[in-house]
Amino acid sequence: MKPVLEGTVALITGASSGIGAATASALAAQGATVALAARRRPQLEGLASEILESGGTALVIECDITDQEQAASAVDRTVAELGRLDTLVNNAGVMLLGPAADAPLDEWQRMVDLNVLGLLYCAHAALPHLRRAAAEDPRQVADMVNISSVAGRFARVGNGVYALTKFGVGAFSESLRQELAGQYVRVSLVEPGATATELASHNRPEVLEGLRGQFGLRMEAGDIADAISYIVTRPRHVAVNEMLIRPTEQQ
Ligand code: NDP
Repeated sequence: MKPVLEGTVALITGASSGIGAATASALAAQGATVALAARRRPQLEGLASEILESGGTALVIECDITDQEQAASAVDRTVAELGRLDTLVNNAGVMLLGPAADAPLDEWQRMVDLNVLGLLYCAHAALPHLRRAAAEDPRQVADMVNISSVAGRFARVGNGVYALTKFGVGAFSESLRQELAGQYVRVSLVEPGATATELASHNRPEVLEGLRGQFGLRMEAGDIADAISYIVTRPRHVAVNEMLIRPTEQQ
């Protein structure tokens, strides 16, 4: 049987590690040609080689999506080199935790720049292509999958600004979903709980110490990639609007 995503092109931001890398592999396994965007070229090239060895096609795009021009150029290169854009996975993100009082302001800036503005820049650049993909091909829909977090639903002590950015991703996604529903562009929100990736490692040592052992058994990046793959492989008349996924033990 033909792979469900054959003939489609997906751009995944933050594809150099964690959930983004696992998602790129999962979508490639479903037949999508994938564009891999992040700052670390060696990791992207390693993943592209793996995808190639498994019979897929991948394009490496080294970029910093907090720069509006680089975000737009990542979308433009995907369309120029791979011919179209059917799926955007807005995954790149950073989580810097700790009490708000005396928090380093640059950490807040980094989270807003990437989790909010970076996502918006990619969404803005991709929308004309997603709308065209959905309009042109009656067998397909186009998808934007935005990665939020459990923190996009529940703010807790120590995650205030991270939660602010992820609540914002949820608000933008729901508004855009309503705007595009009639145009066969599906906008989905994925809200993972604790997942074993590099995400927490960017925190200051004193914050990391506090996080140790907090979550018990975490999910794997592949568990979230499974969810994203499920969302984008639904038939044309089915739109999964939102998925909140926690490890079994997480409260
Ligand atoms: P990782 O730290 O493993 O991945 C983050 C990715 O973002 C990396 O590929 C990184 O690549 C990329 N990135 C960072 N800065 C930029 C930038 N300026 N431009 C382009 N890419 C950038 O973490 P996860 O895989 O866990 O995180 C993926 C998403 O999942 C995030 O949005 C996160 O908030 C969300 N999430 C994760 C949870 C978890 O427990 N792991 C729970 C809930 C949500 P590079 O450094 O090469 O640029």
